Amino acid sequence: MISIKDLHKSYSIGNSSLHVLKGINFEVEKGELVAIMGSSGSGKSTLLNILGMLDVADEGDYILDQVPIKNLNETKAAKYRNQFLGFVFQSFNLINYKTALENVSLPLYYQGIKRKERQEIAMDYLDKVGLKEWSTHLPSELSGGQKQRVAIARALASKPKVLLADEPTGALDSTTSYEVMDLIQKINEEGNTILVVTHEEDIAQMCKRIVRLKDGVIIEDKKINQVLATSHV
Ligand code: ADP
Ligand code: MG
Repeated sequence: MISIKDLHKSYSIGNSSLHVLKGINFEVEKGELVAIMGSSGSGKSTLLNILGMLDVADEGDYILDQVPIKNLNETKAAKYRNQFLGFVFQSFNLINYKTALENVSLPLYYQGIKRKERQEIAMDYLDKVGLKEWSTHLPSELSGGQKQRVAIARALASKPKVLLADEPTGALDSTTSYEVMDLIQKINEEGNTILVVTHEEDIAQMCKRIVRLKDGVIIEDKKINQVLATSHV
């Protein structure tokens, strides 16, 4: 599903340069649930943003579902991004003046899906994350965990090939974090490919594989015995 080879990324700050990713290689198969770990500043978000086509690498190859992601213009990149990828962020990134249902259905609008069908799909996904009864509520009326579940419903509604989550539990208390991880595990069990950036060891243990970054390189990449989030709740 994902193949990256010898990926490099530097940022220029003034007249100096910060080499953040120094030759990253890995493959992700369909249906994997991978944690990307590393301390703050180790380049996790940089890597996820490149995988999410929100940023481009300086060097290296990236192939997503057999499509080489290279030298794409912004229109094409946006098209692939919408078609292939779903995003979940630490800060939820919901639109405050729109209801849960509207937040989930908005990306479908940009895909040209008609209003009635959009609402049906959005409602199905809200139901899937256990929030059908909350469809008419604004983000400000939802708890942190509920907001993240809306964000997950929104990401899934476009049926992405890969779900990318950057510190999805970073703003949540541990009980709520485990509830969100329980949902992520269930979605993965349905065959979805998911990458979760986290710096929390207990969250990483709920994935099926851990990739550890340090100083711009992968220092460990191993399959693990997944801890079920429900065993914590
Ligand atoms: P992580 O997500 O692991 O905390 P990041 O990928 O966000 O790490 O950042 C890696 C390093 O790159 C940090 O030192 C950060 O300050 C730097 N960095 C990230 N984005 C930029 C940017 N747009 N411009 C300059 N430096 C950046
Ligand atoms: Mg980060």
